[in-house]
Amino acid sequence: MKAELLKFRPGTGGLFGKYVVSFVGLVVFVLAVNGALEIYITYRDTTTTVVAQQTQRAETIADRIDQFISEMERQISWATRASSGTLEQHRADYTLLLQEVRSIEELAHLGGDGREELRVTRRRVTVGSGTDYGSDPSFAEAVARGVWFSAAYYRDTEPFMTVAMAHSGRNAGVTVAEINLSFLGDLIAGVQSGRTGYAYVVGPLGRLLMHSDPRMGPRNTEFSRLPQVDAVEHGQAPTIGRDLQDRRVLTAFAPVARMNWFVFVEQPLWQALAPVRDLLFRLGWLLVLGLVVAVIAGTILARRMIVPIRALQAGASRLGAGEFSHRIEVRTDDELEALADQFNRMAEQLQESYSRLEQKVEERTRDLAQSVRELKALEEVGRAVASSLDVKAVLSTIVTRAVELAQADGGAIYSYDPVLGTFRLDEAHGLDQGLVGAIRAMRVEAGWSRLGEAAAKREPVLVPDLAEMQASPLRDITLAAGFNSALLVPLVGAEGTIGALVVQRKAKGAFPANTVGLMQTFAHQSVIAMHNAQLFHEVEEKGQQLALANEHKSQFFANMSHELRTPLNAVLGYTELIVDGLYGTIPDKAKEVLDRVQINGKHLLGLINDVLDLSKIEAGQLKLSLEDYSMKSIVDSVVATTGSLAHSKGLAMRTAVADGLPMGHGDERRLTQVLLNLVGNAIKFTDTGEVEIRAKAINGTFDVAVRDTGPGIAPQDQIRIFEDFQQVDNTSTRYKGGTGLGLAIARRFVEMHGGTLSVESAVGTGSTFHLRVPVHVSEPRDSS
Ligand code: ADP
Repeated sequence: MKAELLKFRPGTGGLFGKYVVSFVGLVVFVLAVNGALEIYITYRDTTTTVVAQQTQRAETIADRIDQFISEMERQISWATRASSGTLEQHRADYTLLLQEVRSIEELAHLGGDGREELRVTRRRVTVGSGTDYGSDPSFAEAVARGVWFSAAYYRDTEPFMTVAMAHSGRNAGVTVAEINLSFLGDLIAGVQSGRTGYAYVVGPLGRLLMHSDPRMGPRNTEFSRLPQVDAVEHGQAPTIGRDLQDRRVLTAFAPVARMNWFVFVEQPLWQALAPVRDLLFRLGWLLVLGLVVAVIAGTILARRMIVPIRALQAGASRLGAGEFSHRIEVRTDDELEALADQFNRMAEQLQESYSRLEQKVEERTRDLAQSVRELKALEEVGRAVASSLDVKAVLSTIVTRAVELAQADGGAIYSYDPVLGTFRLDEAHGLDQGLVGAIRAMRVEAGWSRLGEAAAKREPVLVPDLAEMQASPLRDITLAAGFNSALLVPLVGAEGTIGALVVQRKAKGAFPANTVGLMQTFAHQSVIAMHNAQLFHEVEEKGQQLALANEHKSQFFANMSHELRTPLNAVLGYTELIVDGLYGTIPDKAKEVLDRVQINGKHLLGLINDVLDLSKIEAGQLKLSLEDYSMKSIVDSVVATTGSLAHSKGLAMRTAVADGLPMGHGDERRLTQVLLNLVGNAIKFTDTGEVEIRAKAINGTFDVAVRDTGPGIAPQDQIRIFEDFQQVDNTSTRYKGGTGLGLAIARRFVEMHGGTLSVESAVGTGSTFHLRVPVHVSEPRDSS
């Protein structure tokens, strides 16, 4: 679990991280807000308190200064009483005064006219200097108001002030006292404000009169630029000011009555705010502590949340992967546990439907496999029916497959004899030889068996229990062989029932409907097989009859041709003798008739010769007489025979016989006949142009080409012209003569030589016939 938890890193977006961060964030937020408030309040209180204390101190100091000055005023006024009128008396008074009041440095008496009469210091007495102070403020102001205070001024480094006081009585003069203000130092010396607090007094224009820190010499003019001093002079009362080092200070002041002086009490802000700092420090620690506690508490809480969620997640992904037996263990007694329970219920349902589905798939697969088996068997049977004419083998295949597919233990195909009304066993599978022999030996009467019933109804008959059937010899031996149920399917053809397919099981019980349907298909195939066999038998018989008839015809033609040729030759011979005048002179008219007799007779002879050749070939009587021959001499003899005919039609005749042709071995007479036929046709069908004969030998074969510039032969006619009695156009060739047998005979002769005869032609461009025969023919082929 630890390892799992380590996977949750805050900030990586995981729930764990979010939890911890939120928790810590909340704690930090509360602490921070609280801290900020506290700091604000403390700051405010601290500054208020400190400023209040400082103000009080400043006021105390200001009071003391005021008292001090009043006291001094009182003492000086003692010297100005009316009873003291003489110079001597003044001198005595002044000396006494100097002794008693340390701050008074010098005393002078101005007469009623403003001239100095007496000046007394601690060391010296000057009498009657006569210096005129009549217009000096010390004289004028004192006479006018009774008392006059000068502004502070410096002598050397010490601050001084002049106090002038009019004497009682008319023109009694004025006493002018010069007062050393160092006493201020004693007055503010004891004023400490905190450890680093200090006080100072500034006079008019912000000039420093005295500072509690003795290092701060008087005459210091820099104080006038301190913001708080400047502000006070302008009637404001700031609490935050600056010191000479420009540090922030808490400041308070109090004015000294009558003197236009101000007492400042100050303390550096950083020190004054020490409590705030302490608080900040404390709060810092508190925050750190809070953070640590929050992290620990957040981790523990998040862990308590995350562990069950992880369990849910892992469980859900296992369910997703198909592990439906997995159950999610969450015991938190809350919504998560409810969710886990829901998952578990879902998994259970999925598991159930899955197993149901699997079962269904299994069933379907079984069904499908069975269908495939059936289809295969049907295909095999169909193939056997289509490709084999061996009815025994086909029926054997059918019964074997039928027994297999019907899941039966045995089966048989019977044929039905409608005349006798009996069934005969043809093929069996799964039945032992003894049983087959016994069934073959018995007469299975249609009327006595349920085979007859199936045949009559033309529908399958189911026998779930053979023992319950009416007794019959067939039933008895079948029962004895251990079979207890059977399915009988009639074989019904167009002419009626021709047999039956029987499958039987050792177990009792009916056959399922699809098996019955299947067996009907097999029965149908059996009918086709039987029909095929019957048809084949008939065709074979007819073929044999035809061959015999053809042989007779050929024989007849051969005989007839011979019989026709002999008298025709005699007729032609005699006619020639008559024409030649052997039997006396004959009139021209008769000679003309005899010439026509000769022409027609020769044509008839040619026809008879052709028919004789064809018949002989077909009757297998024509044999090649093989001997050595020269192809060149064959070509030459053909050219010699046909040259005059070509010439008479105005056709050019060319030959191109390759040099050094090998000697051929074959039937020279028949090959000459073939070439003669090709060249004869070429001349016959060509009206203008030329006829060319080319001969060469390639790879042991003579290739003789006969090319003409005649009408050409259309592609559809190029095969037909090699068949018996076929002409391209009966009308156009009729006047050119011919029988349509020439090429047919030529083809047979060439094929007997093991060669080929072919044509390349297009209508309008002439034709080229190719005669190809092996140079050496050792064994003539049969071409009939
Ligand atoms: P036939 O006795 O009519 O010439 P063939 O068997 O020799 O019989 O020729 C069959 C037919 O083939 C001819 O009638 C003719 O229509 C066609 N034929 C043969 N040779 C040629 C050729 N060189 N040019 C055009 N047609 C030809």
